[in-house]
Amino acid sequence: MSAVWSRLGVARIVNAKGPATRLSGPPLHPQVAAAMAEAAQSCVDMLALQARASEIITGHTGAEAALVTSGAAAGLLLGAAACATGLDPAAMARLPAIAPGGRCEVVMVRSQRNQYDHALRTAGLRIVEVGLPDRFAGAGCRDAEPWEIAAAISAQTACVHYVADARARPPLEAVIEVAHRHGVPVLVDAAAQLPPRANLRRFVAAGADLVAFSGGKAIGGPQASGILCGRRDLIAAAALQLLDMDYPDGLFAPPPAFIDAAELPGLPPHGIGRPCKVGKEQIAGLLVALERFAAGDEAAEHATRVALLERLAAALEGLPADLELRRDLPVPLLALTPHAFDAGVLVRRLAATAPPVHVDPEETDQGRVLLNPMCLLPEDEAILVERLRAALQP
Ligand SMILES: *Cc1c(COP(=O)(O)O)cnc(C)c1O
Repeated sequence: MSAVWSRLGVARIVNAKGPATRLSGPPLHPQVAAAMAEAAQSCVDMLALQARASEIITGHTGAEAALVTSGAAAGLLLGAAACATGLDPAAMARLPAIAPGGRCEVVMVRSQRNQYDHALRTAGLRIVEVGLPDRFAGAGCRDAEPWEIAAAISAQTACVHYVADARARPPLEAVIEVAHRHGVPVLVDAAAQLPPRANLRRFVAAGADLVAFSGGKAIGGPQASGILCGRRDLIAAAALQLLDMDYPDGLFAPPPAFIDAAELPGLPPHGIGRPCKVGKEQIAGLLVALERFAAGDEAAEHATRVALLERLAAALEGLPADLELRRDLPVPLLALTPHAFDAGVLVRRLAATAPPVHVDPEETDQGRVLLNPMCLLPEDEAILVERLRAALQP
């Protein structure tokens, strides 16, 4: 299974962190990998493939249309570009420059600023921040309020950007209400909001105009895949700025349900999203992964993950560390607090073994290491126990 890595002289890792881009995304189910290998062996019209992917994804999200992207961050770039240009090919050709009087701003709650908002700026938009995140500073209990979003919206606003998270304020519904009252779309970053599977539909159902998901996280698709779904006109604008537009006269003939060519005054050239190219293998793999994710038995999967962590906890019993099984999260976690040394030392000790073991370092500053079961292979369980036993010795 890891023969390719040994041929390349690169270590395969034990991934107890969960799907992360730095650690190459999730291991693919054999059906997903098989679809990618099959797709790789013949050619297809990419416009027809994306149009069909749109039909399949809308069946799982309830959106009007959808696009397979090279990741959620690419989805944010394409979504921001679509909000800036609409279906105007001249505006598409100009990005990241935006003509005077154009929609050159994105409104965003200050406490939601994050490293992925680079994608919005790459599309040419200027971020207009609102709110003061007092509750994070410890200086108070407030964050941002709908009236502050309303006050920041102007004729230059392309969209309001919202980063979905349990801690995000104001609630998405309130942000959508205020944005729509001012005629502005809402672009939601829902990259890491799965599971639960119900979230595939939740943000669209709440009225979000565009929603970006990662394909290479819980969906279990290829590492370099994602979904952008939402309003038909905005998805068409995003597709036109992603697809290769090198069409000879008369050959650009998309299905009107995906891109209505009659609405276009002309064909734009390659767009700002062209460097975010998506391969046929990614699309074929993502669609199989999405079908599997949507049809899976969520409760059974959760129980399997809890059982794995229970076996790990039992095997680690008696070692100099506190163990805490967090069962009720969308993905259960095992938190491990070493007695004899800092959690950061444990993270580094585990990563220095062969094969390297990677854990979730999010709570090392609180003395804990987190074990996430999502990307562990069956053979990893024994390795993980053995390495943790060794690494926890003082
Ligand atoms: C992972 C993540 C992204 C990026 O997703 P990719 O699919 O890797 O591009 C964006 N936003 C948030 C909140 C994420 O967690």
